[in-house]
Amino acid sequence: MSPRDPAADLRRIAFCLERALEPSYRVKAFRTAAAVVDRTPAAELAQRASAGTLTDLAGLGKVTALVVTESLRGEEPVYLRRVETLEGTPVAEGAARLRAALRGDCHVHSDWSDGGSPIEEMAQAARELGHDYVVLTDHSPRLTVARGLSPERLREQLDVVAALNTDLAPFRILTGIECDINEDGSLDQEPALLARLDLVVASVHSRLRMPREEMTARMVAAVSNPHTDVLGHCTGRQVLGHGRGGKGRPESEFDAEVVFAACAHFDVAVEVNSRPERLDPPKRLLRLAVEAGCRVAIDTDAHAPGQLDWQHLGCERAHLCGVTPDRVVNAWGADELLAWTSRAR
Ligand SMILES: [Zn+2]
Ligand SMILES: [Zn+2]
Repeated sequence: MSPRDPAADLRRIAFCLERALEPSYRVKAFRTAAAVVDRTPAAELAQRASAGTLTDLAGLGKVTALVVTESLRGEEPVYLRRVETLEGTPVAEGAARLRAALRGDCHVHSDWSDGGSPIEEMAQAARELGHDYVVLTDHSPRLTVARGLSPERLREQLDVVAALNTDLAPFRILTGIECDINEDGSLDQEPALLARLDLVVASVHSRLRMPREEMTARMVAAVSNPHTDVLGHCTGRQVLGHGRGGKGRPESEFDAEVVFAACAHFDVAVEVNSRPERLDPPKRLLRLAVEAGCRVAIDTDAHAPGQLDWQHLGCERAHLCGVTPDRVVNAWGADELLAWTSRAR
């Protein structure tokens, strides 16, 4: 393959990102890198690309160096391909395509914890929305304000779900939990019980303001737990106009590159939480997760049947951040999803 023009590829990426309303500081890296490529003799660029030393040039980072390398090889850079999908596609259309690909919802509460409706009503509403399945993820014991389920109540819930599933077939309620990530990074439920569940969402709900290093270690520990499948609402933020009298809640602080690298390594999906007061992760972090190669779960965190229809909000953000259906775990059918949650770790 004959080499492409790496500076042109970098500028094209910047253009596509700008059109997708990315903040200009995110885009600047690509324009800066293009200028570096302009200044560097072609022979030096080729030599550095094959030696893997492009990042020694000031102004080239890991992502932009990869773009240059692929471009010089004559390949359309993967990053460019991803942002090009934004091209000419109105946001609503891209989001609708993503929404149409979803076959279930992996984060749903019932009145067993802090939801407002019985399991059966949540399941029926999900089925009416066209889903093949929902994963029931009520809270874990330590979240007492949300009536977190003790091991006994969760075991009891498993029997109830099994009985409901015989009535609702072929629709399926998959068993699960939204498990608190304890301060030390351990999970707030008996490991043997977690092992029995179809899917585990792990979320931070307590001490959201702990120092950055501690929070990073806490989240990485949870992500590396062999029972964890999805990292729930990773920053814990509440956007302005909601929560705490409308003042919102700031994001918790952690090293997102480290946490998302762990998610990619342990094949844990990063949740796109569709709740309008959460919309978590924020776009800059979601794009980082996509770049890290993470899988994504676009979930509603519904606490009532009507909230199951919030997925389009998550889909819009996901589309803007370059998430494609092949990266989304709930674009799989139930069997594929279960094959993934029972992956060897
Ligand atoms: Zn939660
Ligand atoms: Zn939840």
